[in-house]
Amino acid sequence: MRCKRFKTAILYFYRELNSKQGKEFEKHLEDCNYCKDYIKEFQKTNDLYEYIPLESPSPDTVERILAKVPAKRFSFVLKLRVGFATLSIILLVLGGYFIIENRHKPNLEWYGIEDRLEEIEEDIEILKEDFFANNY
Ligand SMILES: [Zn+2]
Repeated sequence: MRCKRFKTAILYFYRELNSKQGKEFEKHLEDCNYCKDYIKEFQKTNDLYEYIPLESPSPDTVERILAKVPAKRFSFVLKLRVGFATLSIILLVLGGYFIIENRHKPNLEWYGIEDRLEEIEEDIEILKEDFFANNY
């Protein structure tokens, strides 16, 4: 059974709850298998990132990207954006590779990972809606 408090589970996972909220949520975790599993899956996903090597674009690539930007001086924010975009692409490619690579391993089917992915996608949608509702 799906639990409405999965968002709190995420905050709990990232230690974003204050100690009172944390204790209260730990009490909730004692009876809620959904949140317990949610945190476990979160941990697993988090652990996967440990195996993804961090790479930087070559100086050539950075130079080519910078050359396409109008002559205005680079702000820190823009550099940050280029870095973030590059990192996103790398993570996407590696993440995609990882998912494809693992799709054929039977043990992942035992986890019901397809169902979990669907649930996680739904959760992401809910979070997105909340985010936009609160920020725009
Ligand atoms: Zn729960």
